Amino acid sequence: MQVWKFGGTSVGKPERMHSIRTLITADSGRKIVVLSALSGTTNALLSMGESAKAGNDAELSQKITNLRAHYDAFLPDLYATPEGLAKGIQVVESEFSFIRSVTGIRPFTLKQEKELVAEGELLSTQLFAVYLDEQGENTVLLPALDFMRIDADGEPILSFTEEKLGEMLAQHSDKQLIITQGFICRNPRNEVDNLKRGGSDYTASLIGGAIRAEEIQIWTDIDGMHNNDPRIVKKTFPIRQLTFEEAAELAYFGAKILHPSTITPAKQRGVPVRLKNTMEPAAYGTLIADNTSDRDIKAIAAKDGLTAIYIHSTRMLNAYGFLRRVFEVFENYKTPVDMITTSEVSVSVTIDNPEHLDDITAELSKFADLEEHDRDQTIICIVGNFSADKEGIALKVLEAMKSIPIRMISYGPSEHNISLLVHTKHKAEALNALNERLFYYEDAMQGIFTAP
Ligand code: ADP
Ligand code: ASP
Ligand code: MG
Repeated sequence: MQVWKFGGTSVGKPERMHSIRTLITADSGRKIVVLSALSGTTNALLSMGESAKAGNDAELSQKITNLRAHYDAFLPDLYATPEGLAKGIQVVESEFSFIRSVTGIRPFTLKQEKELVAEGELLSTQLFAVYLDEQGENTVLLPALDFMRIDADGEPILSFTEEKLGEMLAQHSDKQLIITQGFICRNPRNEVDNLKRGGSDYTASLIGGAIRAEEIQIWTDIDGMHNNDPRIVKKTFPIRQLTFEEAAELAYFGAKILHPSTITPAKQRGVPVRLKNTMEPAAYGTLIADNTSDRDIKAIAAKDGLTAIYIHSTRMLNAYGFLRRVFEVFENYKTPVDMITTSEVSVSVTIDNPEHLDDITAELSKFADLEEHDRDQTIICIVGNFSADKEGIALKVLEAMKSIPIRMISYGPSEHNISLLVHTKHKAEALNALNERLFYYEDAMQGIFTAP
């Protein structure tokens, strides 16, 4: 069995939903099909939440009307029969009636916001399931809220999905296409919750891991993982193969094509992940698996929104106790550290969640001297096969960065990552300079200008 996930743009137009049907029925394999919300819907729902929080009822009502109009225009092109259309209208009416009631609750809290934002995936999956039904496909819609669960730390519980989804699949063993929602889940209080923005990729991977799928396919609007961020760098190209480790680093360090945690369950259960383009299904895409291919430098990604904290040991403390005490502080405030560099008496770290920054710096100040921290930092992450016998990779990286100030460098902890910390204002320049030097320089020297 395979798990296929379609993102927002892949379901964002009626004709795209028609194409998805063609894709998922092209072979006879049984599939779990995970859908995101229609592109724009999640943002629109969150924006309604903002109006509700602010108590701005006129603005809220206008936003609901606008989104409703989008769905009203979508349905006639999606369905071919009056029966299909009538069922689609019923779905939209019922979900929008929920949207109106939940956004009317005062005070509008995080609990309501989570229920509201779940409506995107609830709408897209129901509309698509009605369409498949109308077309006579052998299909069932299984509610993700019944088998996706996170613990008190927001971590998905894979064993829960394994058991619950296993039971549900057994009950529907006659069904060929199993449709479900990405992104949404329940928390330990049994409330509706989610896996954070872009979380449908993670759902697909968790399902794939739970059922030990043959393959997980992430269908999106680009032909696989590119060697650099195509939103910032012009000359990028798709990478055919990545190892789980390489893909995990790229996703974690900002390659938006994958939710940061997507690779974890797939890697844990050894399920290959294939990235495919819904608009261009014949393109090869990217295969993420255990094997390596021989190219040394695979790709570059960037993660924004980091704060760098600079910590110096005071003479009061023995050197061997220092790092433990530093990291205990971050642990106590459940704040993950992204990047670390050390010297004999100092340690610098970056964090992406500044929520507890004041408490953390107060705690650290009890046994360390702190420099003023830097906000608006970006980690540039160069990913590939950098085993110790590979020569000259760090040199090429630093050569590319020769006119860009670097705040931290990390090289060595894994064989597939070199990370640099720069101010976010230098990000675009750094990505472009690295792209030229790492992917095009040798070719340019030889007069070849095509992608490697
Ligand atoms: P979906 O809605 O299908 O989940 P996303 O917008 O989340 O799609 O992810 C696809 C987008 O990720 C692409 O359109 C592209 O702009 C962006 N992206 C950023 N970095 C990369 C990269 N290294 N390779 C491919 N796409 C990337
Ligand atoms: N709809 C959610 C979002 O926009 C989840 C996803 O698209 O993966 O973040
Ligand atoms: Mg996405």
